[in-house]
Amino acid sequence: MVTPVTPQTSDIVVIGAGPVALFAVFEAGMLGMRCHVIDALDVIGGQCAALYPEKPIYDIPGYPRIDAMALIDKLVEQADPFAPDYHLSQQVLSIEPLGEWASDGWRVTTSAGTVIDARALIIAAGCGAFGPNRPHLEGIEEYEGSSVFYMVNRREDFRGKRVVIAGGGDSAVDWAVSLSEVAARVSVIHRRPKFRAAPGMAERLKKLARDGVIDLIIPYQLDRLEGDGGGLEAVIVRDLDGAEMRLEADALLCFFGLAMTLGPIAEWGLALDHNHITTDPATAQTNRPGIFAIGDMARYPGKLKLILSGFSEAALAAHAIHPLVFPGEALHWEYSTHSGITKLES
Ligand code: FAD
Repeated sequence: MVTPVTPQTSDIVVIGAGPVALFAVFEAGMLGMRCHVIDALDVIGGQCAALYPEKPIYDIPGYPRIDAMALIDKLVEQADPFAPDYHLSQQVLSIEPLGEWASDGWRVTTSAGTVIDARALIIAAGCGAFGPNRPHLEGIEEYEGSSVFYMVNRREDFRGKRVVIAGGGDSAVDWAVSLSEVAARVSVIHRRPKFRAAPGMAERLKKLARDGVIDLIIPYQLDRLEGDGGGLEAVIVRDLDGAEMRLEADALLCFFGLAMTLGPIAEWGLALDHNHITTDPATAQTNRPGIFAIGDMARYPGKLKLILSGFSEAALAAHAIHPLVFPGEALHWEYSTHSGITKLES
């Protein structure tokens, strides 16, 4: 017999835990509303944490330069007084209305079986479910997470190691240049001589190759892995004529871009525009009452896919949701300098 799950309750469920979602928790909290935040990834921070944690961002107001993960840490700190509940490593699979009216709210169910009832939903799902494009190499799963990686969390993890990097885009080039400062050896495998990267970085890569610091293995493709128990010993590559080369390696980094899909969101009856959710720019409201979309996922005329635009959309959504959570209560506009922070109990 299946035991029914007792739903948790919240004012708002935020789908996604990227930078924009985190700021939505703050904006909602300033208006007295609690959030549960759900993300498919096992870390908070969305693209900033998963794709470029150590890269500096230059267009966050008030921060002339801030590393992506440092920004996430600040946003988590800013959201903290409002005691959000984070549910990580679980994808929101389905949503269903709890009644006929917008203020009846929505039930959200995740892949981990978490069920939450909320007055409103904020979809801050970025570009949807994203994951790395994996090369088709036999047995690669055995090495993933121990010696084969699709992102770099900490450059220090590769200190003194023999690193093979596969790919020809920005990530491959940026990390080859960066890791050459700490790794014992960096080899870059690419199918063609031209790199699809910022010209300055591609030039730096070629100079490091000319100086003998980095090996460019071109035009080659990954063929197979050698190793044992998740520990890599060598990467075997092959050129277009089938000639093989064996590269001794401790780690393989594959940068073949991201596979992005809307995932379950496509099934939720939302008005879509090229894999984005259409919203009212004044309120971030979607075509379904009580469901709002902000950040990279939201689309309206003039939309700029920038973190700072998402921050503004988070504030608009919070104000639009207030009457759903507190029907009949007037919202008295206050600057944060006047209201200060009123903590919410966890
Ligand atoms: P995201 O950060 O994409 O987070 C969305 C989250 O939703 C993800 O964690 C995903 O797992 C989750 N999710 C999706 N579907 C579901 C589901 N069904 N259930 C549960 N979770 C789900 N922007 C700038 O403003 N300035 C910059 O300098 C800048 N540099 C960048 C550099 C790089 C290399 C990249 C890749 C992006 C850069 N960006 C920059 C863009 C910026 O990162 C995005 O605009 C920002 O991350 C969008 O935030 P978000 O919260 O909307 O979504």
